[in-house]
Amino acid sequence: MDAAPTPTDPAIPADAEDTAAFADLGLRAELLGALTSLGYEEPTPIQREAIPPLLAGQDLLGQAATGTGKTAAFALPLLHRMPVGRADGDPVSLVLVPTRELAVQVSEAFHRYGKDLGARVLPIYGGQPIGRQLRALDHGVDVVVATPGRALDHIARGTLRLGSLATVVLDEADEMLDMGFAEDIEAILEHAPAGRQTVLFSATMPARIDGLARQHLTDPVRIQIERERPVAGAAPRVRQSAYLVARAHKPAALGRVLDVESPTAAIVFCRSREEVDRLTETMNGRGYRAEALHGGMSQEQRDRVMGRLRAGTADLLVATDVAARGLDVEQLTHVVNYDVPSAPESYVHRIGRVGRAGREGVAITLAEPREHRMLKTIERVTGQRIAVDKIPTVADLRTRRFELTQAAVRESLLEDDLEPFRAIVESLTDEFDLMEVALAAVRLAHEATLPGTADEEEIPQVAVRPNREARPGYDSRDRRGGGGGARARAGGATTQVFIGLGRRAGVRPQDLVGAITGETRVSGRDIGSIEIADRFALVEVPQALADEVIQGLRGSTIKGRKATVRRDRDDTDRR
Ligand code: AMP
Repeated sequence: MDAAPTPTDPAIPADAEDTAAFADLGLRAELLGALTSLGYEEPTPIQREAIPPLLAGQDLLGQAATGTGKTAAFALPLLHRMPVGRADGDPVSLVLVPTRELAVQVSEAFHRYGKDLGARVLPIYGGQPIGRQLRALDHGVDVVVATPGRALDHIARGTLRLGSLATVVLDEADEMLDMGFAEDIEAILEHAPAGRQTVLFSATMPARIDGLARQHLTDPVRIQIERERPVAGAAPRVRQSAYLVARAHKPAALGRVLDVESPTAAIVFCRSREEVDRLTETMNGRGYRAEALHGGMSQEQRDRVMGRLRAGTADLLVATDVAARGLDVEQLTHVVNYDVPSAPESYVHRIGRVGRAGREGVAITLAEPREHRMLKTIERVTGQRIAVDKIPTVADLRTRRFELTQAAVRESLLEDDLEPFRAIVESLTDEFDLMEVALAAVRLAHEATLPGTADEEEIPQVAVRPNREARPGYDSRDRRGGGGGARARAGGATTQVFIGLGRRAGVRPQDLVGAITGETRVSGRDIGSIEIADRFALVEVPQALADEVIQGLRGSTIKGRKATVRRDRDDTDRR
């Protein structure tokens, strides 16, 4: 095996000329600065395709799922086109999203990208006290990211004025329609100026989305990121699996997976330089021998890293896509996607690092539950199944470690020259039983294989929710406005109670308040926001009273029907 560094590691990726950089897309300097400081090395495919037409003011219809980088694909051009230092306080951009969670996430992205432009960004959604939103709107904003229900409330109150809008974005439009927001979206678009730019992103393109686009978009550019063609050369000799894991547990999950898989050498792909540096440090802290590889390093630094990997003094390479392009390391047995890659093509490139020349490789993807759909897209495009497995438990890990020790001892028995050690065993058997001597020796061998910090914490399992509507912060409409639930909101922790009946069963907020106050000691003032979706409702109540509310509602009927009542799963997840 050749352990010396190869002088042919690419200084510049072979296909660099074909790959537009962010600067080539014509974005202003403040945005390029923000992208550099975030460690984004190159635009994702959707960004490459969507940013130029959006900068030119065209309407756009894009098919792309979460994880493709679609937020930056629309946020960057909107920020680029935003007039700086406006005196006017009415928003120039409105982004409509299906959930509270996404409203917060998208507005954070706008903040990050637009920090040097002084962009004023406001998320508005049901469940948050309306007073705070009123004050913020009153101070003036550039970009509003809203769930449709709450946006319409503000429009009706005259607190959200759409007269200055240059662009409206409908993000995750299919989800918004699934959640029954079609009428709200129509009503909002009616209030927007006729000459505005309209952008629609959707993971799927059912006829209803096409209809919406036909009605509200003018001569849109169409972009489809999931190309329905098999990608040539998708490596068949690669075992592919994925684990669903919450973001906070990813480093532990990576450690667990590596311990169980025990790769000879693995490459872990991250999205940005920052993540590469952070993860390398974390993994070294956990006792792995990790090296970073990204586009910000000189060729000399990269050669050194590759040399250490080939020589076996490092066994984990943490890299960005750009840096790893063209890499060919014979020892690599495992590819880990620390995040789901932004496009199926990039997945295929990544897993192509292993399983070469007839050798078998393993590709593992750590996906957050919300990225599950992107996994499905990758499966469809590559025509290969990605098995979604449970994160190995502590017990699984122990079992696996024993197996590895047993295999190592077995191998030694079959292959090694053990004679030099005979004297030690013989002298010990004067004092101890032979079995005891063997046990002690195996134990020493076993312990020598454990990483620096043995990781014995269970990693929580997370599931993809079967019902898309049951997502955090699903916002139908908070009709209670700022009046109700003062106590629930002002002091103490609150809990969301899930009730399995919604608009379709004719449930209105007053029915829920009536049922709760009639069955429990809880008063109307204790009840916080009420969100009613098509098939379920969420009610915010003080945590201390949640059990009483649940018991009370389980024992009664709402609109003459029995309903499933429980703590909202997301609420418990978030704690
Ligand atoms: P999205 O599909 O918009 O939810 O984005 C998925 C993730 O990719 C987010 O965490 C972004 O911060 C990240 N991201 C977006 N564009 C890039 C890029 N060009 N390079 C690296 N990371 C990116």
